[in-house]
Amino acid sequence: MYPLKYHKAASVDDAVAILTKGDSAKLLAGGQTLLATMKQHLAAPGDLVDIRAIAGMSGIKAEGDTLVIGAATTHAEVAGNSDVAKLCPMLASLAAGIGDPAVRHAGTIGGSIANNDPAADYPAGLLAVAATIVTSKRKIPADEFFDGLFTTALEEDEVITSIRVTRPKRAAYAKFRQPASLFALVGVCVADGAGGVRVAVTGAGDDGVFRHDGLEAALAAKWSADAVKGVKVASDGLLSDIHGSAEYRANLIRVMAGRAVAAS
Ligand SMILES: Cc1cc2nc3c(=O)[nH]c(=O)nc-3n(C[C@H](O)[C@H](O)[C@H](O)COP(=O)(O)OP(=O)(O)OC[C@H]3O[C@@H](n4cnc5c(N)ncnc54)[C@H](O)[C@@H]3O)c2cc1C
Repeated sequence: MYPLKYHKAASVDDAVAILTKGDSAKLLAGGQTLLATMKQHLAAPGDLVDIRAIAGMSGIKAEGDTLVIGAATTHAEVAGNSDVAKLCPMLASLAAGIGDPAVRHAGTIGGSIANNDPAADYPAGLLAVAATIVTSKRKIPADEFFDGLFTTALEEDEVITSIRVTRPKRAAYAKFRQPASLFALVGVCVADGAGGVRVAVTGAGDDGVFRHDGLEAALAAKWSADAVKGVKVASDGLLSDIHGSAEYRANLIRVMAGRAVAAS
């Protein structure tokens, strides 16, 4: 490590002010990605802004049929929350399948989507249910938020404050886990909700999370695991690496989509 200034932000405005004036300042949530990156000298912020003590940044509430999840809420809290279980059980089971207990008790939903790892679980879940990302500046639909590998619509001085998810009619997430990293080799979320029938895929795209038109059309016509079987999933534009070829991932997308529909 190297010398840096640690700040405990008291408010969102406080965090934004340090982000704006600081020395390559970075927000710190659970540190599950950021601290590892700093240890490897891949990031070297001069100012580190801890957002976990900001009032309202953690915790979950229900506003009618909409879940409002604070950005610094941990995966374990999402997995165990009764409002999430009632309004969107898909999210609870997705969160319960992230990493291991240590990661789930420190990692946060805001940190996960700000990082937008191409194999992370939340991007698929939130894209499928057409979630809204609320920041210090604006409300960003999930369709406009995830913007390629490790890239989002966030500006340098923008803080995610909460995530809003409207209860879908049905939704489920199926993940084929990469056993070494615990991330998704392929993860598919299917949802039938406010945004219509949507299918989002993580772990497979060479440009990060994406929606699959063919699976969406098949499920809009008939919501059944059998409907998925006839869909051709092309391997063009899919990742190919030591863990699996593009063709293997294409097959997994169809298999995981079928499992998700069966579980919904
Ligand atoms: C061993 C291991 C296994 C894992 N397995 C999985 C897995 O199976 N599935 C999965 O999806 N993820 C997995 N993760 C990632 C984990 O879920 C964390 O959520 C993710 O690493 C982000 O960490 P964090 O929330 O602690 O954020 P941090 O590491 O603190 O921050 C990450 C980035 O987000 C920025 N940031 C944080 N909060 C905000 C905010 N509110 N607004 C704007 N920017 C913000 C930070 O500045 C930083 O750039 C794993 C991680 C580890 C270490």
